[in-house]
Amino acid sequence: MGKTIQLSGLIILLATMLWPAGLHAQDMRPHSILVLDQSDRLGPFYYQVFVGLRDAVSAHGHAPTTVYTESLDLNRFGGEAYQDGFRRFLEEKYRDRPIGVVIAVGAAALELAIRWRPQLWPGTPIVFTLVEEADFKRLRPPAYVTGGIVTLKLKDAVLAARAVVPDLKTVVLVGAGWDRQVLFRNWKDQAAAGLPGLDLIEIIGRPMPDVVEQVAALPDHSVIIYTGLYSDGKGNYYPPSEALAFVAAKANRPIVVAAETFLEPGGIGGFVIVPSLIGADAAQRALRILDGEAPENLPPSMIDAVKPIFNWQQMQRWNVSEASLPQGSEIRFREPTFLEKYRWRAVALAAALLVQTMLIAFLLHERYMRRKAEVEARNRLSQLAHSNRQATAGELSSSIAHELNQPLGSILTNAESAELILGSPTPDLQEVREIISEIKRDDLRASEVIRRMRSLLKRAPFEKKEIDLNQTMQEAFDFLKLQASARNVAIYLQTSPQTLRVQGDPVQLQQVILNLVVNSMDAMGKMPYGRTIIGRTEVDGGASAVISICDSGPGIPPDRLNEIFDPFFTTKEQGMGIGLSIARTIVLAHSGQIWAENQSGGGAVFHLSLPLAA
Ligand code: ADP
Repeated sequence: MGKTIQLSGLIILLATMLWPAGLHAQDMRPHSILVLDQSDRLGPFYYQVFVGLRDAVSAHGHAPTTVYTESLDLNRFGGEAYQDGFRRFLEEKYRDRPIGVVIAVGAAALELAIRWRPQLWPGTPIVFTLVEEADFKRLRPPAYVTGGIVTLKLKDAVLAARAVVPDLKTVVLVGAGWDRQVLFRNWKDQAAAGLPGLDLIEIIGRPMPDVVEQVAALPDHSVIIYTGLYSDGKGNYYPPSEALAFVAAKANRPIVVAAETFLEPGGIGGFVIVPSLIGADAAQRALRILDGEAPENLPPSMIDAVKPIFNWQQMQRWNVSEASLPQGSEIRFREPTFLEKYRWRAVALAAALLVQTMLIAFLLHERYMRRKAEVEARNRLSQLAHSNRQATAGELSSSIAHELNQPLGSILTNAESAELILGSPTPDLQEVREIISEIKRDDLRASEVIRRMRSLLKRAPFEKKEIDLNQTMQEAFDFLKLQASARNVAIYLQTSPQTLRVQGDPVQLQQVILNLVVNSMDAMGKMPYGRTIIGRTEVDGGASAVISICDSGPGIPPDRLNEIFDPFFTTKEQGMGIGLSIARTIVLAHSGQIWAENQSGGGAVFHLSLPLAA
């Protein structure tokens, strides 16, 4: 009984010791991953595998996971001694660093990881990636191993080659010896089986100088399919993407490739394996195991890491259209169009041009409107001036009638006298001649009165020419003389001794003078006597001519001296108040000035200054 109790106690003790420990083996796995690359991790392809892996680990974020990396570099180093040395190195290096999952990149790395596991990482699951289907079948890894299997088919590469060269006749395989190949080893058999309807040239396992020479002289309708070159055959090793750059520099045909990292150094593209995808797949499997899943529950599976991707620049070089590529193809290294490249600059430029165009249109429109307004204003002015002149003429009509009556009366008298003389038996023909010449003179006087009247009433467009201001003034005063005497006004004119040449419209300027003189006559209308008007012309400082009209009237109230020029300002019962405003407009149109003053001895004086013609 005691023994039984002892035994069962031992079993329970063992069970409690082992059972939870078994459970915890998965739960308590150290959160660390050792990545074992079969090649040099700094080569572009393996580096991209690592980038995909690291990004997936960083994105995981449940618990911080340490990632260690080791490159076996089996392309350049090999043999039992090297491998054993490497194993011992790992043993030393990771003595105090427990590993949760080993990730083997490549079939050769997987083989070594399986072999080293009992010694280095007992009980640790292994995740593989970059293992080709045939290698996977050959290795038949045990249950603690899982991973993503990749397949690259020569037939896909040929499909891409046909897309690149539609009338394809020859496929040229370029690469290292088949036994050195990692992913393309199985293409050896596929190539040996032949490519239906196509000739095949194999430049496989040749030293680099041979390869470069041969690819420079390939037949028409051929495409190179590049697998990977690792050395120049003289002990110099390089990543296969670098070797591709040498080949591409010399090749006279496009190069179809099967790895994403072969696009940039000169591959035109094809169904390429994307290394970051396989890195990410391995990381996800490793993380699930670290999170507690058993590797047996994550069986190895094929992964979809092959995509049709093409290099736009190579497509341009070999004249390959986008339409001929396999469906769903991605295009890389496309040069941005002008608009894509300079989008914002182009938009800014277009906006600036638009604004400028609008501004120009606006300015042109404004100029047009201003011109129109100017023409309208001038028309209105000449219309107003015309009606103002008509009004003045109306005022002056009585004196005009009088002025005409005089010559007409003397013509009649002279004609009657001539008749009488001619009726006598001995007519004095000399006297008749004198009478006739008087008749002619009177007739000329009458027609002169009519001419002046007509010119005053003529509605002519504003027109400047060089005139003598003295003469203009004289004509206006002659015209006003009769009116002045009818209104009992003494009128005098003092012209300057020298001629006053100005650019002006004589009709318009005479109208100004008439307005000023008639205004003076009006102002003096209520004075019983002493109505006097004096007109003057003189030179002012050599640059302008000044006309002054003085009267002996009451003058202008000082606070109205400016106001009187405003349109419709009048103090007269029948006044319109436009005479002075028109006068000012006419003077301004002559680039002159007009102003009024009161004389110290009484009466108003109006000055009108005009620039002298050069
Ligand atoms: P209107 O003669 O129809 O009144 P004007 O524009 O010719 O219009 O004159 C405006 C006003 O200026 C006159 O009503 C008058 O009050 C004043 N004025 C013009 N000339 C004289 C002057 N020589 N003396 C006094 N006042 C004057």
